[in-house]
Amino acid sequence: MEEVDLLIVGGGVVGLACASAAARPGRTVCLLERHPRFGIETSTHNSGVIHAGIYYPPGSLKATLSVEGREALYRFCSRHEVPHRRCGKLIVAGPDDDATGLEALHDRGVANGVNDLEILDEADLRRLEPRVRGSAALWSPSTGIVEAEALVRALRYAAEDVEAALLPASGLLEAGDGNNRIEVRTSAEWIGARAVVNAAGLDADVVSEALGGRRFRIYPCRGEYAELIGVSRQLVSRPVYPMPAPAGEHLGVHVTPTTWGGVMIGPTIHYQDDKQDHEQGRLPVEAFVEPTRQLLPDVRPEDLRAGGTGIRAKLSADPGAFSDFLIERDPYQPRLIQAAGIDSPGLTACLAVARRVGTLVDEVLGDGARGTEGRSGEEERHNA
Ligand SMILES: Cc1cc2nc3c(=O)[nH]c(=O)nc-3n(C[C@H](O)[C@H](O)[C@H](O)COP(=O)(O)OP(=O)(O)OC[C@H]3O[C@@H](n4cnc5c(N)ncnc54)[C@H](O)[C@@H]3O)c2cc1C
Repeated sequence: MEEVDLLIVGGGVVGLACASAAARPGRTVCLLERHPRFGIETSTHNSGVIHAGIYYPPGSLKATLSVEGREALYRFCSRHEVPHRRCGKLIVAGPDDDATGLEALHDRGVANGVNDLEILDEADLRRLEPRVRGSAALWSPSTGIVEAEALVRALRYAAEDVEAALLPASGLLEAGDGNNRIEVRTSAEWIGARAVVNAAGLDADVVSEALGGRRFRIYPCRGEYAELIGVSRQLVSRPVYPMPAPAGEHLGVHVTPTTWGGVMIGPTIHYQDDKQDHEQGRLPVEAFVEPTRQLLPDVRPEDLRAGGTGIRAKLSADPGAFSDFLIERDPYQPRLIQAAGIDSPGLTACLAVARRVGTLVDEVLGDGARGTEGRSGEEERHNA
């Protein structure tokens, strides 16, 4: 049996970031990913928005870690040449919206530490985005966009640089308690680990149960996209969102330019039983015309084509409820650390999530003092 100090289950942005954040001199770190390539589930099927941290309840992990993670992500992307743009975003009040909702969003953002928000009138909105319709808007200059595939690659290289052993095509199949360790079987071998991080995304519930941890359920929630084609892609130059639903976490179908010159429309929201079904029963592209025209009235039906889909790993089945990330030392399995329920803004927050997880790993392994206080091995290496 292979013996390691830390085993991470899941090779999306969260697991890969955890590998770097938890690396310490003399500590052996190994990461299991069931697919032959890293990050091919949710981490590369999303809107690619670096969120400012406006929407989430003050004090929640989503609020704290998106504010903290956003700046860490900008620094990481610059340092590792990951295509990204701090382009800002607009949340627009349409003719039928109550524009006082923008003030409530502004105040919530400020309570979360987003201090650069500004409410724009119609003339200012038009100066920034002449083709967008709205009577007023909330301007968030610190929102941005990032190329998710390039981010996954850079996180992988960063983890390899700190000598984490990354094992693709190695799913966790079963696990059991050993002598002062958790023993995990993959298709190839048994691995004994003194600490395990559950970063298994849509299957975090299955992995937690296999490891003897807390029981919870992940509810898969599909988001579908359309895309603008041809010259219609020039109608907008930064993310434009409608006013969010009054309750819950759906930010509304929005318009998001990509770093490679595309424009995505979406995502929609649809709970389903299957965690991997991206295609069955997809919405017709016509379903995106009206929501797009609410924001960009010049868009014609022929300007749209079907886009991708992504599946959120939600901890609640109620679209009207807020559910936070689950980041904790497991109450039932003391060697297990949960990084579960990481739906949006998990791309934005991945480095901050990893930093929290790194601190918990230090606690479990009881050797935090060997690392550099409060900084990940990767950050330390690159700041040296
Ligand atoms: C439609 C949509 C839009 C989004 N938009 C944004 C956005 O604009 N901005 C933002 O910040 N966030 C956004 N998100 C959220 C973001 O994509 C996720 O929070 C983030 O990708 C979560 O990363 P992860 O590593 O936890 O999960 P994943 O990327 O799903 O990684 C988990 C990995 O675990 C592996 N795994 C599972 N079980 C096992 C096992 N038994 N053994 C080994 N490996 C296993 C899986 O194969 C997978 O690769 C969006 C999400 C969706 C679905």
